[in-house]
Amino acid sequence: MNKIAICPGSFDPVTNGHVEIIRRAAAMFDRVIVLVASNAMKRYLFSAEERKSLLCRCTADIPNVEVDCDEGLTALYAKRVGAAVIVKGLRALSDFDFEFQQALTNRKLNMAVETVFLPASAENMYLSSSMVKQVGMLGGDVSCFVPPEALPDILARIRL
Ligand code: ADP
Repeated sequence: MNKIAICPGSFDPVTNGHVEIIRRAAAMFDRVIVLVASNAMKRYLFSAEERKSLLCRCTADIPNVEVDCDEGLTALYAKRVGAAVIVKGLRALSDFDFEFQQALTNRKLNMAVETVFLPASAENMYLSSSMVKQVGMLGGDVSCFVPPEALPDILARIRL
């Protein structure tokens, strides 16, 4: 059976935490689609195409991973591509409430999709895209938080 999993998120920008979850999902499923979500209500540092291109670069060594962009609901995207699973990383307890709500909503929208939560590693537990942006914009070193393939683009954008 060809099990397809989706790893959705903003990825604005990609961090080591994201790549870790994608890598672990790729070891569990036949095909992993990293889905770059764009919400018209949100402002992003990178455009959807830029976020996609950074993710492609950082996951180029994982053969069963591909990256796509979508502006709609993840549950409906999953239905379109025949994905059985949505993989989400869980950091602190603070992620739980929102993620649980999302998982229940996605299941209502698409009964065929199951959400699987992977616990963040101790190392990446406090890492988020917004933390990277804050630290970087205030002149801090973000090289230990983001993949080396994405670092030059991230520095160029936040140090503008
Ligand atoms: P954020 O903007 O908070 O970094 P995203 O919306 O881009 O998050 O996250 C996409 C997915 O990656 C979500 O499932 C999120 O829980 C997960 N994720 C983000 N950061 C980490 C991390 N440091 N460790 C594990 N999972 C993470």
